[in-house]
Amino acid sequence: MKTILFKKDTSVVEKIEVGKILCLGKNYLNHAKEMGGDIPKSPIIFMKPSSSIAEDFVIEIPKISNELHHEVELAVLIGKKGKNINLSDANNFVSGYAVGLDMTLRDQQALAKKEGTPWTIAKAFDTSAIFGTFIPQNEIANPDNLEIKLSVNGNVKQHSNTNFMIYKIDFIISYLSEIFLLEPGDIIFMGTPEGVGKVVSGDTIEAEIEGLPKLIAKIK
Ligand code: MG
Repeated sequence: MKTILFKKDTSVVEKIEVGKILCLGKNYLNHAKEMGGDIPKSPIIFMKPSSSIAEDFVIEIPKISNELHHEVELAVLIGKKGKNINLSDANNFVSGYAVGLDMTLRDQQALAKKEGTPWTIAKAFDTSAIFGTFIPQNEIANPDNLEIKLSVNGNVKQHSNTNFMIYKIDFIISYLSEIFLLEPGDIIFMGTPEGVGKVVSGDTIEAEIEGLPKLIAKIK
């Protein structure tokens, strides 16, 4: 099992084993537009396994792809077991937040869309999930209103705000919990804003969300 870091307070950083990673597609209108699709009628959900996490912040492009894309996203850590969670209770299941990267093999995804096959290769390959250090939920007053930004080699590529998320965190927790048992160590990727693009070997990605520890990753 791969782990993430959780900064409990100023002096204590815990390692937490990650269960499943549930991810939202097209959760920002302008990203849905740049992908050439309509706004989803219901949340688009896919998964990454715990083994997809790059604990050393080094991303490797699998041989099968020539088009690796960056996607900066708010990552939500689940702290409590829950099934059929009420909307009003949903936030009580969050233990923390971090900056995340949902790395995507865009050529493989386009092929899957064309063929009507699953996105598993495009989204769940080794090193496709990267997380900055998580901080406690109570340190972020409003996770649905945070500046979100990503640069490649110092050039800003994505810059938006989490208030543009179509589906909010509490809704998604409630929605997902009707389908999947949520367990401590599960993580939810809240989708990426517009500006996704290709990265190549040697690139450095800097991902930031207001109030959260910065994430720096390298493409091998
Ligand atoms: Mg994404």
